[in-house]
Parts: sequence; C-alpha cells; structure tokens
Amino acid sequence: MNILVINAGSSSLKFQLYAMQWESVLAKGKVERIGMDSAILTYEPTDMREVREVSEILEHTTAIRKMLKLLLHPEHGVLKDIHEINAVGHRVVHGGESFSGSAIVDDEVKREIRRLFDLAPLHNPAHMLGIQAVEANMPSVPQAVVFDTAFHQTMPPVAYLYPIPMVLYKKHQIRRYGFHGTSHAYVSERAAAILGRPLEDLKIVTCHIGNGASCTAVMNGKSMDTSMGMTPLEGLMMGTRSGDIDPAIVPYAMDKEELTLGEVSSMLNKHSGLTAISQLGSDMREITEAMEAGDRSARLAFEMYEYRLRKYIGAYAAAMNGMDAIVFTAGVGENSAVLRAAVCRNLSFFGVELDEEANSRRESGERVITRNSSRVQVLVIPTNEELVIARETHQLILNQNNVV
Ligand code: AMP
Repeated sequence: MNILVINAGSSSLKFQLYAMQWESVLAKGKVERIGMDSAILTYEPTDMREVREVSEILEHTTAIRKMLKLLLHPEHGVLKDIHEINAVGHRVVHGGESFSGSAIVDDEVKREIRRLFDLAPLHNPAHMLGIQAVEANMPSVPQAVVFDTAFHQTMPPVAYLYPIPMVLYKKHQIRRYGFHGTSHAYVSERAAAILGRPLEDLKIVTCHIGNGASCTAVMNGKSMDTSMGMTPLEGLMMGTRSGDIDPAIVPYAMDKEELTLGEVSSMLNKHSGLTAISQLGSDMREITEAMEAGDRSARLAFEMYEYRLRKYIGAYAAAMNGMDAIVFTAGVGENSAVLRAAVCRNLSFFGVELDEEANSRRESGERVITRNSSRVQVLVIPTNEELVIARETHQLILNQNNVV
C-alpha cells in the first residue's frame, strides 16, 4: 500500500510518498510560496535527480496537481498510475478535545476541524485547504487526519487545566492541549525499543527541540504532561517564541508600549526567544558559533534556553516521581551536542552520567549518549513525524477494510 503524507501550511505544502510494505520513502518534496506567481516546487524522487520548478501556483489545488504530475512523470515519476496512491494522511495541528486519535476524513470530521479553526487560526484552516485540494484532485482516495494534539489527550485534569475561572474551560475549551504529539509518541516508543524495556514500565522525558520546542512527561507510554499549552506559545524558550512568561506582562507591555493585541501576539510569537536575547536570529548554529567567539548576548541566549529546558526536565521528573530516560529530538535536540552536554552536566543530581565522547561524535542516527552506569539514560533519536502519519493512515485504512 502506498500512502501520501501531506503537511499543508497557509502558503506551503510538504509531501512524502511511502511504500508501506517496506516503510520506505518513494519521493518527497515541497511547494513554497503558494499564492504567488513565483511559487517553488521541489521534488526529490528517491535515488533520482531532484527537480525544481518555479511557476505560478495560486492555490493548494494547483500545488497538489503539479505534485501528482511529477509523481506520475515518465522520467522523474515513481508511480505509473494515480490509483497506486491508496490513501492520503494529513498532519493536523489541533484536534481539540474531540480527537484522541487519528480519523478517516468524512463530513463530520471536517465539520469538527472547522469548528477548531478558532483554536489554531494559523494552522487548521491551511490543513483544510490541503484536504480539499486532495479531494479535488483525487476524489475517490480515502484521507486520514493525524493530530499533533491527540497523543496528549491522556493528560489528567491536574495537568491540562489552568487555574483560572472554570467558565473559560467550559465555555471556550481554554485548557492545555500540547503539540508535537506524533514526535513525542514516536521517540518514546523508539527509546523503549533501544533500551530493550517495555514502554509501559518507563518514565521518559522527551524533548522535541526544533524551531518550536516542547517537553513531554511520558509515563507508561502515555503523555501525562507537556510544556506547550492551549497554543504552541507556552513552555520552553524557542527560536522566536517566548515560552513561559508572567501573563501580567502582556497588559503591562501593551499599555507602556501602546501595542495592539496583534502586535503583542506577534512580539511573543515572532520576535522573542533566542532571536530577542541573542539579537542575532533564531538559529542555534549561529548562536553557538557567536557564543564560542565571545558574543555575550549569544551566551546569555544559550544559557537561558538551556536553563529553561533543564527546569522542565526537573519538573517532569517530579511530576512522574522518577525518570528512566531523557530523549533529545528535532533540529537542535538531534544536532546540538553543546546544548545536550550543558543540560546533562547539570542533571548529575538525578544520576545522569553523560558520555562526552558519545555525545560529541558526529553521528546522525539513534544513539545512547550516557555511560552504562548512568541511572538515567539519555538518548538522541531523530524524529519521524511523517512516518507516524503514514503508519496511522495505513492502520486506519486496514481497519476500515476489515470492517466493510
Ligand atoms: P526543526 O524545527 O526541527 O527543523 O529545527 C530547526 C532548528 O534546528 C534550526 O533553527 C537550527 O537552529 C537547529 N539546528 C539544525 N542543525 C543544527 C546544528 N547542527 N546545531 C545546532 N542547531 C541546529
């Protein structure tokens, strides 16, 4: 069975085509600048030459049409017939309280995703465009949706409720939802497999540290708390997002700087975090280089980032009353040995014994970076959210076929 995985943003669309028999990628690519006359389509068929096209792509429907044309292209294609795509799986950021798992797309599911537009105004409407674009181009192909929030639906009320008037939860579903769920689920499963222990017996803190960053307390295979909240702004300091701040700063700064709601939201989402403190940008590579060259703002940004991450790891060890493993994943987590070392050196109280050599080795695969004697094992595990979406979609289709 071949599954096409789609991650649709408002002006971009990423895709990956999987052959599920081997869980191998047949082709992948992306369309950027949708809505413009100079949209860029990049297509990478496995073991073949990359194709790059610049053309007018005004809508997601056109982006999907052009992608399909390349997948079926006599020279660059990996398929002979469009019917070789058996299903499409979409990443959807917000599933609210309605979805604790993935779902096959039908009218009811679409209605629910629309109802959640308010909670994820930047993401869910774009995902809906992706779903509609697939419907327009491949009307008979079943589609599934896999939610970033679903894995966190196991959180208990003590973790997901905010200590504010209950009416806000009851009337407007204001609560913690958490994000990056497919990534936290994937790396916690992999960690258990690498450690050779049942996931159900483990207390793991998973750290998805990329442009966006979140930590999750995974206890017995279930998310019991996570650092992102009602939106992906809460929690860790990120590339451009503030993470946790005193909420009273918002009205105070609005008053003092005469900011509108839109401006304060943009400040916290786009002009805070590493960017604000380093005054260099949000890229951890640049910040580390500048820090090592003696830049004091870069050092402060790095140290704040590390400190805030370490505090969350400590908090989650307390939340679970123990910690067997810590997992680092995503762009920074997988690649920044300097950050991992700084975090681990300061967790010796918990029994973390970093293997400095294993941590700094230039490797890209899954690995343990602590000594055998370490009470808490620390692992680096490359995340693979697309594979999780493909697997979930595959399973839903198999279940559906069995039922019919
Ligand atoms: P992601 O959102 O998972 O794609 O992560 C993107 C972030 O990973 C970038 O902003 C970089 O800061 C970071 N990153 C990528 N490669 C490295 C590296 N070699 N060292 C440190 N950070 C890196």
